[in-house]
Amino acid sequence: MAAAPLLELDRLHVKYGNVEALHGISLTVNQGEIVTILGANGAGKSTTLRAVSGLLKPSGGEIRLDGRPAQGIPAHQRVRLGIAQAPEGRRIFGTLTVRENLGLGAFTRQDSAEIAETAAWIYGLFPVLEKRRDQLAGTLSGGEQQMLAIGRALMAKPRVLLLDEPSLGLAPLLVKAIFQTIREINQTTGVTVVLVEQNARAALKLAHRGYVMEVGRIVLEGPAQALMDDPKVQGAYLGKR
Ligand code: ATP
Repeated sequence: MAAAPLLELDRLHVKYGNVEALHGISLTVNQGEIVTILGANGAGKSTTLRAVSGLLKPSGGEIRLDGRPAQGIPAHQRVRLGIAQAPEGRRIFGTLTVRENLGLGAFTRQDSAEIAETAAWIYGLFPVLEKRRDQLAGTLSGGEQQMLAIGRALMAKPRVLLLDEPSLGLAPLLVKAIFQTIREINQTTGVTVVLVEQNARAALKLAHRGYVMEVGRIVLEGPAQALMDDPKVQGAYLGKR
């Protein structure tokens, strides 16, 4: 029998109050893949990630990690199971230094030598963070804060890295650099990546597979190249007709 996918969402429903934001979405993420979730504003992409990381409780359906139900597990326990999210809006702690922010990302880990090794690896990926390691995170540029958010999530040594709009508000050159680094992280560590993006072109270039969401539903899915070639995706998300 084939191993269970690393992460599965099975007919997942999420509500904000009485308003349903996810209407029963199903998706699968295999070990080592980069999977992107595309869609317009309000489609439900962030809601999906927040349900996976445990910040939102589903009203129905199942989230499975390694084939086992995970929706009842609190967020901090999910980090221990290997799910780490770099949130949209770079929710880093502005009044703490870069180094302290990274340290917080390692809250599930004990071995200080290993933690230092991960930090050194992250400084290698994002040299500017090392240069600014004693600087307050709130004084970093947008791009640097984004790098810190990714670095902080990586400090947990996750099996699944959830990235919410890492390109948001960044200049095109920086977007390219961040996406290249995400590819490098995936290729060198084998970490599985779920990438929520409005920058569909960059996301599809990076990802192995993708899902397209519209108002709380998945309307298209497939290999990244097939989505790039799909006239509907081209018209709606890639600016081609
Ligand atoms: P964006 O790209 O703009 O971040 P998104 O695809 O990530 O969009 P979500 O943020 O997941 O979309 O929002 C999905 C729906 O849920 C939207 O209709 C949104 O207004 C609603 N929603 C999101 N957060 C809340 C909240 N805290 N309370 C109430 N409704 C919410």
